Amino acid sequence: MSAAKLLLIALLGSTLALPASGAEVNAVASFSILGDIVAHVGGDRVALTTIVGPNADTHVYEPKPADAQALHAAQIFFVNGLGFEGWLDRLVEATGFDGPVIVTSDGVRSHTMDEDGETVTDPHAWQSLKNGLLYVANIEKGLCQVDPDGCPTYQANAKAYSAEITALDNQVIAQIDTVPVEQRKVITTHDAFGYFGEEYGVAFLAPEGISTDSEASAADVGRLIEQVRADGVKALFLENMSDGRLLEQISRETGAVVGGELYADALSEPGQGAASYLEMFAHNIELLVPAMAGK
Ligand code: ZN
Repeated sequence: MSAAKLLLIALLGSTLALPASGAEVNAVASFSILGDIVAHVGGDRVALTTIVGPNADTHVYEPKPADAQALHAAQIFFVNGLGFEGWLDRLVEATGFDGPVIVTSDGVRSHTMDEDGETVTDPHAWQSLKNGLLYVANIEKGLCQVDPDGCPTYQANAKAYSAEITALDNQVIAQIDTVPVEQRKVITTHDAFGYFGEEYGVAFLAPEGISTDSEASAADVGRLIEQVRADGVKALFLENMSDGRLLEQISRETGAVVGGELYADALSEPGQGAASYLEMFAHNIELLVPAMAGK
């Protein structure tokens, strides 16, 4: 049976849910990082369901019947776009959702990369805090569209949250500045830090491409090992939602130490140190800066 059919069956008998008490809007966000940003802008007026939860991989996610039910009951759907949610169109189609689908990365200066001979757009735009500000603005606009009465609240929330994002962005810039330029080289599991690298002047290399759905070839890994040796890269990082075996191999063969786990495409569970967008960013910086400096 097709996934779309399963979703439709799950919808039969489901009723349109009203927003949780006190909330005015039922919203769905596609993944945990975006869910946190939506929650900051929406505040108490928005009852939010997030599809791909903490420590889970959005690239290869398979929507569940419960996701279809949540979307069916929602007035607005927030997504990253840029090809991140490969399952998106299928889910929207299967549920017959006809509310606004807000592409929160809208306006980001995106970049493309060559992956196995194909040109693909890098979806990981949230890994620059300046892009985070664009996400906030797009979310505010979307919520004002479906709940005009709440617009002043969303605007105030967005303003306060944007100030927090900007403050952290300034801290990140100051921290990275303490690392000599030639030492700003990091190896991660998959290529999720392109926007981070561009924004803050750090070179990220990864055995896996922009998505986690393709496997690195032996030649890719070999080249990376050569590069780690030649450039003296000291900072090797795992990611919370992706397979770390390749990194462990690179570590064994080069002697470079794995410096911990970065949060790339998903937040942590509450209490694990990266349970919000800003906490995630601060956590990554705390690990990256001393590792790059070789401390
Ligand atoms: Zn990714």
